[in-house]
Amino acid sequence: MLNKDEPWYLSCKMCHKKVKVIEEAAACTNCNIDNVAYEMRYRLRLEVCGAEQRARVILFETDKYLLDCNVQEYVQSTSIKKEECHNYCKLVLSKDKQFNFLVRVDLTNSNPRRLNC
Ligand SMILES: [Zn+2]
Repeated sequence: MLNKDEPWYLSCKMCHKKVKVIEEAAACTNCNIDNVAYEMRYRLRLEVCGAEQRARVILFETDKYLLDCNVQEYVQSTSIKKEECHNYCKLVLSKDKQFNFLVRVDLTNSNPRRLNC
């Protein structure tokens, strides 16, 4: 788990790309809008290994299945004394467990490294 301390990001509500927040306004370079509506989304970066191979994957919005709570609840519950927080422990404890990933490979995608889960 590469980003257990901050498994979320601020995303553009229209395209879900990461936005840059300056004071109150959020800018999305993808939509080319300086003041776009945004929300928090889960983004968990993992390093997975199988046999001798290792790969880095990014899971979007999957933490809610692991943790059973939405991103706002998660961020709020971990904002104070994170180490004692039940949700944070649950996330950290899911490390080294075995998961099955069902991966759909989109061969038409222009980026061959990107898989849609
Ligand atoms: Zn956008």
